[in-house]
Amino acid sequence: MTQPILDVLHDTFGFSAFRGVQDQVVSRVMAGRNTLAIMPTGAGKSLCYQLPAVALDGCCVVISPLIALMHDQLRAATALGIRAASLTSVDADWQETQDRFRAGELDLLYVAPERASSEGFRNLLGRAPIAMFAIDEAHCVSEWGHDFRPDYRLLKPLLDSFPDRPRLALTATADAHTREDILKQLGIDREGMIVAGFDRPNIRYAVHPRDGLTRQIADLVGGNPGPGIVYAQTRAGTEKLAEQLSRDGKRQVRAYHAGMPPEVRRANQDAFIASEDMVMCATVAFGMGIDKPDVRFVVHAGLPKSIEGYYQESGRAGRDGEPAEAHLFWGADDFARARMRISEIEPERQAGERARISALGALVETGTCRRAILLRHFGESPPETCGNCDNCLSPPASVDATQTARKLLSA
Ligand code: ADP
Ligand code: MG
Repeated sequence: MTQPILDVLHDTFGFSAFRGVQDQVVSRVMAGRNTLAIMPTGAGKSLCYQLPAVALDGCCVVISPLIALMHDQLRAATALGIRAASLTSVDADWQETQDRFRAGELDLLYVAPERASSEGFRNLLGRAPIAMFAIDEAHCVSEWGHDFRPDYRLLKPLLDSFPDRPRLALTATADAHTREDILKQLGIDREGMIVAGFDRPNIRYAVHPRDGLTRQIADLVGGNPGPGIVYAQTRAGTEKLAEQLSRDGKRQVRAYHAGMPPEVRRANQDAFIASEDMVMCATVAFGMGIDKPDVRFVVHAGLPKSIEGYYQESGRAGRDGEPAEAHLFWGADDFARARMRISEIEPERQAGERARISALGALVETGTCRRAILLRHFGESPPETCGNCDNCLSPPASVDATQTARKLLSA
């Protein structure tokens, strides 16, 4: 890596070294080559486009799927002294932003995919100095991904109209199918794909059959004094669980979901980030773009939507590298409900959804290493045992035997 780049890393971002594959990604982008970076949550994807954005002449246009995500990034970038702005429905200073953009006074401009592909924005792009494009949460371009956003499909023509400007697609979550699809949909060659290791060795994974869920979660929370997130499956579920877990008065517990008034949501999120022992009962809306490195446990109070979702949500634990735990509680009725839901969606999407559910089935029902199952899902070839999941730490004699034991114990 060249010295000027390392200077930017140090002077603007305050880091002494790149982490993991960041240097590979940044080098490619600086060389003007299209790239797909697949890096786990917390690996530092933002830096991969923010650093070139600062180092290169012209602006980096960032496509991002959520206003909340854009504004979190914007706050963080601005705090570092990076010249950044967004054009979203809630931004009041459009004229000023457009003027700065045209005048070459922006390093980063965040926009949503539907805005990026609009006629008006194309005209604006034609009159501003562009350095590169970053497509964040790039799995949204794929129907195979767990979060398909049709507007991402409109991006390729836009990117193609700037053939000499590199595009960098970033995602934490991509199985083999989704990866292929991202490359194709965004016009990136396979040699441009860089995959970081997905293992999070400090996270201890455990999966439990549901059996008196509230008590199970209360026990777990009681034994983990650090900050934690409990993912419930419904908005009402988050509030109910928060109420139940705070009953004994031992822990600070709050709830978070998209149906709450924004000021309450914001207050709860800020309190959680500042806290050293709070439990947040939330829907999966909570956590995206939130930078809290010391989360000590993440609990799923029911089956997640996909392995990708599970990996990403549980990955919010232990970003500081210290020991952390991920617990998943499930029941047979989760699968029954999932099957029901699948039977109601468009036939074209059913195969993908069924594959997602059966991958989750393999994870929860296995008597072998959980980590190995997760990592194989992301295309890695992990060892047979990890030594830091429930099955490696206390191997079940056999699944049947544990079920029999459970029946006896609960009789
Ligand atoms: P991602 O988008 O991949 O989930 P972020 O871009 O939000 O990750 O970065 C996660 C955290 O890692 C942030 O707190 C960021 O400041 C930090 N980080 C990024 N790169 C480095 C680095 N080279 N050295 C130290 N910390 C870093
Ligand atoms: Mg990110």
